[in-house]
Amino acid sequence: MAIIPINMQEGKIAQNSEMIVGIDLGTTNSLVAYMNGDQPQIIKDPIQGTALVPSIIHFAENGDVTVGNEAKKYLIEDPKNTIFSVKRLMGKAFGDVQSFKNILGYQIIDDDTESLVKIRVKDKFYSPIELSALILKELKERAETVLQTEISKVVITVPAYFNDTQRQATRDAGKLAGLDVLRIINEPTAASLVYGFGVESPEDAEQEAPKKVAVYDLGGGTFDISILEIGSGIYEVLSTNGDTFLGGDDFDRAIIDYWLAQKMISETDLVADKSFGQAIRLAAEKTKKVLSENDFFSQEISGHQLRISRKQFNELTQHLVQKTIQLCGNALKDAKLEPQDIEAIVLVGGSTRIPAVKQAVNDFFHAADRKTADSLLKDYINPDETVALGAAIQADILAGNNKDALLLDITPLSLGIETVGGLMDVILPRNSKIPAKVGREYTTSVDGQTKLKVAIYQGERQLVRDNRKLGEFILSGIPPMPAGLPKIEIGFIIDADGVLNVRAREKRSGVEQTVTIRSQYGISEEDMGKMLIDSVRNAKEDMQVKALLEARNEANHILYATDKFINQNIALLSKHEVEQLLTHKKELQKAIQSTDKDLINTQIQALNEFSSPLAHRAMDKTILEAMKGKKV
Ligand code: AMP
Repeated sequence: MAIIPINMQEGKIAQNSEMIVGIDLGTTNSLVAYMNGDQPQIIKDPIQGTALVPSIIHFAENGDVTVGNEAKKYLIEDPKNTIFSVKRLMGKAFGDVQSFKNILGYQIIDDDTESLVKIRVKDKFYSPIELSALILKELKERAETVLQTEISKVVITVPAYFNDTQRQATRDAGKLAGLDVLRIINEPTAASLVYGFGVESPEDAEQEAPKKVAVYDLGGGTFDISILEIGSGIYEVLSTNGDTFLGGDDFDRAIIDYWLAQKMISETDLVADKSFGQAIRLAAEKTKKVLSENDFFSQEISGHQLRISRKQFNELTQHLVQKTIQLCGNALKDAKLEPQDIEAIVLVGGSTRIPAVKQAVNDFFHAADRKTADSLLKDYINPDETVALGAAIQADILAGNNKDALLLDITPLSLGIETVGGLMDVILPRNSKIPAKVGREYTTSVDGQTKLKVAIYQGERQLVRDNRKLGEFILSGIPPMPAGLPKIEIGFIIDADGVLNVRAREKRSGVEQTVTIRSQYGISEEDMGKMLIDSVRNAKEDMQVKALLEARNEANHILYATDKFINQNIALLSKHEVEQLLTHKKELQKAIQSTDKDLINTQIQALNEFSSPLAHRAMDKTILEAMKGKKV
């Protein structure tokens, strides 16, 4: 097991275990927890006593940045400079967020390319990683204030469906916040840990058959269902399903719609008076919570008498509940299981406090027909806190305090290859379970390219020159094709002994090359510790260089595409338009020479804004001509 305790201040491998905290980095709220003796505990705001840190960031005119409850009030007052739901953007390209970009009050930069999303606040561009790092810093500071000790190591949770890029983005955010992310764990896995699944002692583990557990997570804006198989310290996600736009907010909206339909409030009042609208939204949420405990709600708010019964509420929201049940069915089908096969259901997320939700879950999994003495539903822990508490338990296991718990063997450092501009592209992140088999697809950057150099590196830094080179080989014999067309899959296969096999294969032609690298043995624990310390120390500069290189790569790509566009469509463009395009190009070329990534991004955006209508016109013309050519 390669867990390396590091003393961040002295830059040495630490002898004693130190405090490691668990973080639930949520879409709406985030939490931090630690192990207090043998009990996990949420770290609360020392003054307010609140557990949740709203995942909201506000950028003030004077440059001040606030996070959490302080930032929340600006959602209405200053929506353009108030960022929420960053988690939805983690590791996403522009194309992925088109459908919901409009519901976010702030500006997402859109240039129709494959590159990762950027958020514009005034004249600065932020990546979701930088913004998440601000939330993590807030949690780190809270933990340090309350626990009176420096916190440098964490476990962070992510949804089970997060892909490699989203996980890597979460790790990078941790690093940028000055944290050593010991492990990224799945939210349903964390929730299961709280109920003691999978932490049996090694002796018990041998006797016990793996358990099948469903984690039903209904939060403020999202719904996730995960089916896990847990045994011998191994958590296997058999299937996940969900809806990223279904949650408590929809239940609130159903209440407002009812009040509107019953004419207790009017649409005109709601639209005309923003603060009245906000008061009604808050009232609806409060009503929903009251109805979790009572049969009826009635109160006068801003001169309006508002009423609703639990029965009415249940009828109005039945379709939402049924939607989650349908998704549970899909998840079970994917896991090739029946509802009766599930041995425990863990409820996560504030909205699982709604009685009708609990009832529907019980009914679907046939809880009443079971003969077990234990309740099938595990819901006795605060559902908002379960994931963070589980992360704290995992952190404690990593700190070596929970000696009985079994853990899997893992890769001690990230493994990846060099990509354009000398950037490290991680294929297998550090702390991945081994044996492992992962692959990623790449392509060529030049027309007619027949060779591709694959250089393999180990380490946590953003630039390969700061990492350790493990080897390189050349995939040759790629049939000449236009840039971007070849599909080159780079596969990393690590066996149980830590031996890495790297395979490069051009999928269209079948050209293939494989090398074996014995990496894990060539590096001492001390060197490994040093590499990790360096990566955290240099994280900020590394990320800045990475952002600059990425902006330059993107700019070069766009310049290349613009040239191609002008050549192909010269007949469609006026002289003035060509001149304008060339001027924008020149400005962008000038920006590339600088080290200011915001300037490069601004020029990319300017060129895109100018060229986008021209591209649409060219496309319309092509379609029109194609239509004309067609015989009707
Ligand atoms: P989470 O994202 O897990 O923090 O869940 C937040 C959601 O849970 C919000 O939509 C809350 O309104 C909802 N919620 C919190 N407490 C209750 C409750 N007692 N009854 C119904 N919904 C609740």
